[in-house]
Amino acid sequence: MNSELYLDANATSPVLPAAAEAAMAAMQACFGNPSSSHACGLRAKTLLEETRARARRVLGAGAGRVLFTSGATEGIQTAVLSALCAVRERRRRGEACGELLLVGATEHKAVPESLTHWNRLLGTNLELRMLPVDADGRHRLDLLRELAPRAAFVCTMAANNETGVVSDLDGIARVLAESGSPALWMVDCVQALGKLPLGLASTRIDYAPFSGHKLYAPKGIGLLYVREGAPYTPLMCGGGQEAGQRSGTENMAGIAALGAVLGALEEGGTFRTHAQLRASRERIAAALREAFPGLVFNVPLEHALPTTLNFSVPGVSSKEMLDLFDAAGVRVSAGSACSAAKAAPSYVLDAMGVPPERSASAVRLSFGPLADDAFVDAACARIQHCGRALAQTRPLARLQQLESGGASGWLLSDEAGAYFIAIDPPAALAPRIAADLHARGARLLACFDTGHGHGGADALGGIVGVTPGWPGGAQRVRLGGGETVDTVDALALGQDVLARSGDAYLLGRPENGVLAGEAVRFVFGAAAPDAALEGALCCHRIGEPAVSRPGADPLPDEGIDLDATSAAAYLSAHPDALLVDVREPHEHAAGAAQVRGRMAQPVPLSQLAGQAAQWLREPRPLVFVCRSGNRSARAARLLRRLGHAQAWHVAGGLALAG
Ligand code: PLP
Repeated sequence: MNSELYLDANATSPVLPAAAEAAMAAMQACFGNPSSSHACGLRAKTLLEETRARARRVLGAGAGRVLFTSGATEGIQTAVLSALCAVRERRRRGEACGELLLVGATEHKAVPESLTHWNRLLGTNLELRMLPVDADGRHRLDLLRELAPRAAFVCTMAANNETGVVSDLDGIARVLAESGSPALWMVDCVQALGKLPLGLASTRIDYAPFSGHKLYAPKGIGLLYVREGAPYTPLMCGGGQEAGQRSGTENMAGIAALGAVLGALEEGGTFRTHAQLRASRERIAAALREAFPGLVFNVPLEHALPTTLNFSVPGVSSKEMLDLFDAAGVRVSAGSACSAAKAAPSYVLDAMGVPPERSASAVRLSFGPLADDAFVDAACARIQHCGRALAQTRPLARLQQLESGGASGWLLSDEAGAYFIAIDPPAALAPRIAADLHARGARLLACFDTGHGHGGADALGGIVGVTPGWPGGAQRVRLGGGETVDTVDALALGQDVLARSGDAYLLGRPENGVLAGEAVRFVFGAAAPDAALEGALCCHRIGEPAVSRPGADPLPDEGIDLDATSAAAYLSAHPDALLVDVREPHEHAAGAAQVRGRMAQPVPLSQLAGQAAQWLREPRPLVFVCRSGNRSARAARLLRRLGHAQAWHVAGGLALAG
């Protein structure tokens, strides 16, 4: 399961071997500057113009311009600058040219951001207006009809990068024509190249940017089509390359590579046909449905590119799914790569009116037109493997942290895992907790919120059929054992009790009806820790970390990073050290963690609090590892703050340790 399966082609693609060879040849043999007049330069110029001619044929560019750019973002800037300069000019001449910048609500951020930027910089002060999409992600043509007469510039992508939804460009063209719109029109064609037919010169489209790295060319090369007669203003001036339309010495390696990809498109035989891609998607969709019961596709497949699937598994967050797939060596994403670090909900799915809980679970799986049957077989097998890993009954520790959106709750069980108590369960996790308990035939004795709680006890109690709130009165224990002895309510949990003392809930093992301070292991709720509870860990409702240790001397939590090599060296130098995989159980089931051949022992982050108590009692060096280094850093920091001196983590995680 260790080989990588790359299913994130809408973010970028590997480089076609023929393209890499062409780039290498351009760097080594045909390295001339195409502006030079000697033989080296002439050979480079020929390569440049041959590639342009190919691009013209593939795009159906007719007499329009085809310029080489650094990628689609540059193409978009150039188109926006050209359109806005034209609007400014028309206004100066007193011509009616509209006052709206009309942008599809699901455009790549490069489009509205560039419009805002240039609109401000050029002082055009047009009104940026989003053109809504319907529930299927397609532009609302009824609204376009209303707005088009006032539009100066319309931007509607050919196919969406997150959902694969293919726009009705013919419909848009018809509305623009019928409404007599004065607007210039840009269509971001990045996701369309190699997947949809293009015949640009026969359309009304004025500007169409393309990006090489979305179709097996390297990053840093793109194309911009400009319709014959459409206004044009260069973005970059200088040495006059590209007939003065885009200065700067050409990226010949990128152009040569893109030429090889365009050649493959033109000649056929390299890339799979539309029908073959649809068949592949059908197989992957079937594998997904089978692997993840309840899975929903977020757009109708018939409206999407045959290479993109956007789906949600109810109750499983995007992050959990990505971690699961990543553990199995399958690279997918939650949305656009540009937004991946922002962890914000998808504005694309929001614009379609997808409910927030479904959008929070969205996963994008995309493949390229090079994907052959063997690749699709492997993808389907790996998807099934992930489904099995997720479906297995999750092992629950005796103390389980329930974390959601910065809030923490706690699930406690007896030794046999037959009886449970939920404290401050986050409402969002209530269905999952109920399912977990049901799957193991376990009984929930109580669920309650401490202090102001998260209100999740009501949600969980409602599903499981347990009255929320502290049940109380079940048993009485004496607290302390010293001079001051309080007798309080307690709930039995196997040999332990959960005793209520004011706003604090104490978990420990009583002897002869007395719960001594040193026998308390965990404290929940608004604990004002008593000196006698110094050995206990406090488990909080919120906070990072959500666990603290009263009376401990927190150790500095910097300097916890080891890279994979130093981690391996540390582990060999310390035979008693433990390598701990803090990923969740389904990730471990999808693919075990190892660092330089050393297998890690699984202790999920959600079960760390219970385990930490033991590591503090019997200290041994600890090296935590996870997928990317985030969770392992949290684990090492937590242990240091609790007073453990030898806690480390593998920075960069398994992603770099391989
Ligand atoms: N437009 C769309 C639809 C895209 O998917 C992307 C890339 O993510 C871009 C524009 C930007 O392309 P580039 O990376 O070539 O600047």
